[in-house]
Amino acid sequence: MLEIRNLSSGYGAINVLWDVNLTFREGALTAIVGPNGAGKTTLLRTLTGLIPHKGEILLGGQPLKGKTWDLAAQGIVMVPEGRLVFRDMSVEENLCLGAYPARCRGDLSANLERMYAFFPRLKERRRQLAGSLSGGEAQMVAMGRGLMAKPRILLIDEPSLGLAPVIVNEVFDIIRKLKAEGTTIVLIEQNTRMALKVADDVHLMRSGKVVMSEPAANVDLDRLHDLYFAREGHAP
Ligand code: ATP
Repeated sequence: MLEIRNLSSGYGAINVLWDVNLTFREGALTAIVGPNGAGKTTLLRTLTGLIPHKGEILLGGQPLKGKTWDLAAQGIVMVPEGRLVFRDMSVEENLCLGAYPARCRGDLSANLERMYAFFPRLKERRRQLAGSLSGGEAQMVAMGRGLMAKPRILLIDEPSLGLAPVIVNEVFDIIRKLKAEGTTIVLIEQNTRMALKVADDVHLMRSGKVVMSEPAANVDLDRLHDLYFAREGHAP
């Protein structure tokens, strides 16, 4: 459904992604793993139009065009690393902001209720300022805000970052549920063990390049770690 061909991008004179080719299948969960600085977040920033690129990005066979807000309107939605909730706004206001694209505004109340059914804890805290939430709750707000935009493809950047293991499990249960509902998901994760458990397809990035692409069922965690850390004798 989303295809990237010969993609290069970076920041000003610094190139980060080098000739990246990837396909994200409709209804599948694609995990992108890789060490710090591999370019995973840069890939998501490129897909969401935050930084310019060379090469092609196709959604449903059509080239993606426009600024970030145009891309959100076309259903490319990102849940950013570190949650980035609006701390001085309530949980509900944060969720409503996700429904900013015009095609999501008409059925705002029904959309909100759907979110509260999905995240009952957020319903209890709907009037609470997002800045006073726990890390796990804030992650739920960030994911709910993304879902309010009715994504065709949901890009989730490092949802486990800084969360206690028990909360990480909760967040991954939600990701599993989203997947079961048929949401197309691209998940950036450093927690390879968790990523492998939920993914259909796995890509490993290092130094701005894709160095391994496999169905998750074929990936051996030890071999993945050898490639991940570029251990002697196992580097591609
Ligand atoms: P992490 O897991 O640590 O988040 P990552 O794989 O997501 O890493 P990126 O955040 O995409 O990696 O960073 C890739 C490279 O781009 C790094 O070398 C980083 O220093 C550089 N970079 C990231 N953001 C900027 C920026 N705003 N300006 C200049 N360089 C940047």
